[in-house]
Amino acid sequence: MEHFDCLIAGSGPAGLGAAFGILETRPQARILILEQNKTSSGGLRNDCKMNFTYPIGFPVEFWDRQSAAQYLERTENFLKPDIMPQKHIATYQKRASRIGVELLSIRQSHLGTDGGLALIKELVARLEKAGVTIALEEELLSIDKQEKIAHTSRRDIQWNQLILAPGRHGFDFLRKFMSANSIPFTDNSIDVGIRVETRIDNYPIVRDYYDPKFLFPERTRTFCTNSGAAHVVQERYTAANGQIWYSVNGHAFSAGNKTNGLVNFAVLKSVDFTQPIASGQDYAEYLASLAMLTGGGHPIMQRIGDFRLGKRTTRDGLNDDLYDFAPSLPSCTPGDISLAMPAKFLRSIWKALKQLDTIVPGVLHPGTILYYPEIKLYANKPQFIDNNFMADTDIYLIGDGAGTSRGITGAWASGLRAADGIIRRQGWK
Ligand SMILES: Cc1cc2nc3c(=O)[nH]c(=O)nc-3n(C[C@H](O)[C@H](O)[C@H](O)COP(=O)(O)OP(=O)(O)OC[C@H]3O[C@@H](n4cnc5c(N)ncnc54)[C@H](O)[C@@H]3O)c2cc1C
Repeated sequence: MEHFDCLIAGSGPAGLGAAFGILETRPQARILILEQNKTSSGGLRNDCKMNFTYPIGFPVEFWDRQSAAQYLERTENFLKPDIMPQKHIATYQKRASRIGVELLSIRQSHLGTDGGLALIKELVARLEKAGVTIALEEELLSIDKQEKIAHTSRRDIQWNQLILAPGRHGFDFLRKFMSANSIPFTDNSIDVGIRVETRIDNYPIVRDYYDPKFLFPERTRTFCTNSGAAHVVQERYTAANGQIWYSVNGHAFSAGNKTNGLVNFAVLKSVDFTQPIASGQDYAEYLASLAMLTGGGHPIMQRIGDFRLGKRTTRDGLNDDLYDFAPSLPSCTPGDISLAMPAKFLRSIWKALKQLDTIVPGVLHPGTILYYPEIKLYANKPQFIDNNFMADTDIYLIGDGAGTSRGITGAWASGLRAADGIIRRQGWK
């Protein structure tokens, strides 16, 4: 049986951050990265906007400003981003604060989906040169933690240190893994929202600030803005009961690509559950199944003009005569979001959108499209036994799936933090 100093499941930014973090101190470490997909590097393949200001992407329950700052600095030094300029922020901030909204000024870079692929190519080449293998289409199935053996879809592997970084799609895998290995965790919060798509002319702030981060009352916020060559996309999930569901999301190609003149961004609301609801994931899957029922197996889209009038959008209502742009995710079902979204979320999000329209007039143009559902599964919160995300002896859980990050930079930083724990435990420094 092959033996590795460190076995990493998941080749997303969390897994890569961990591998590079170990190699920095221990270049001769034997590291294997398992990736269940045909292609490597998880969420680095999407849009690749990177945020370099706390707390964006750094869940405050696991990161304080001080600890995040040093890891953000290391992440930035490694990834060497081109930070984008911002303009007129004070003007927008003043408008926002008058109505109880905060606009955070965040240092950002944007590679775009094509730029992200180029970055992955470079990172994978560096890993290969350092002797690290990324085993594609090989899934971690389970482990024997006493014997330190991993059972994968292809073989058994002996490990000394194990890092699980399975991302949001691995949420269910991680939940089952933690239950099977008696790792205590909570899963009591959820982010639910919609994705807004409109013409850039209706949301021109993006010419001044690529991904503006507005914080509205009632724990509602803007998230993941994409513009230029921008598209709404859907992510496929399998619920614990086997049902397929889709969450919408968004991405854009890099600045050099032909623009479609559109912008999309999410408005999300966070809710924490108390008794008797125990699982954010179960609740998310319930909401998703209602959305799929309402949309005939697809997400729903609705024009603002129809939403205001309290009527559904129809395929005919998406014509060019009434509205001036075509949806970039046409496979969604024109319908009525209020049939599928609980009032608790809908009310806060609609209120936030009206506030946004006061700060950036035009975003609520009748032609603007709302897509639903956009649900973020990063609510698994393992009980860690050290400060470096170790959840059981020599087993580390990191990245979006384990709730230690909410974005690329946070995921990379959580990989570095786990690597630091491993280096210390191994006495490599
Ligand atoms: C469309 C879209 C756009 C996005 N845009 C941005 C953006 O612009 N900026 C930003 O900061 N964030 C963005 N995100 C979120 C970002 O992708 C994630 O925050 C980030 O990738 C999380 O990193 P991770 O390493 O935790 O997980 P992931 O990147 O999801 O990587 C996990 C990897 O583990 C693999 N895996 C799972 N289970 C197993 C297993 N059992 N065995 C082996 N492999 C396994 C998966 O296949 C996956 O490749 C976007 C996400 C999407 C879907």
